[in-house]
Amino acid sequence: MPIDATLPYDDGNIFARILRGEIPSRRVYEDEWAVAFHDIAPQAPVHILVIPRGRYVSWDDFSAQASAEEIAGFVRAVGTVAREQGLVAPGYRLLGNVGPDAGQEVPHLHVHLFGGAALGRMIA
Ligand code: C5P
Repeated sequence: MPIDATLPYDDGNIFARILRGEIPSRRVYEDEWAVAFHDIAPQAPVHILVIPRGRYVSWDDFSAQASAEEIAGFVRAVGTVAREQGLVAPGYRLLGNVGPDAGQEVPHLHVHLFGGAALGRMIA
């Protein structure tokens, strides 16, 4: 079910539980600002989600409320994951869904990182 990205942050959401280690995930990266793990339903040969450690529902509250340090840390983490996964030379796609029209389902900010094949124009 798509979520309303204007609602307050819910500490019981599935990515909050993954961050706390209450639910397993296949982590590929973590640092002070972000955690990255394989999507459980990959839509490309490489499909990784990168999430901030902070309590943000979507790009909307993150871009409005996060500190410059948090934003820089998160953006750098996304780039580091792509480099570590060897995706830069072949290329990759970043995607972020916000709210119902985009089909956002998990109310904790996440960036999808797709790669591992020529992606065409339709992955969303
Ligand atoms: O952007 P959106 O909210 O639609 O994407 C949520 C993503 O989280 C989906 O790609 C889904 O497969 C993934 N997911 C996951 N592990 C879970 C629950 C959802 O990787 N436990």
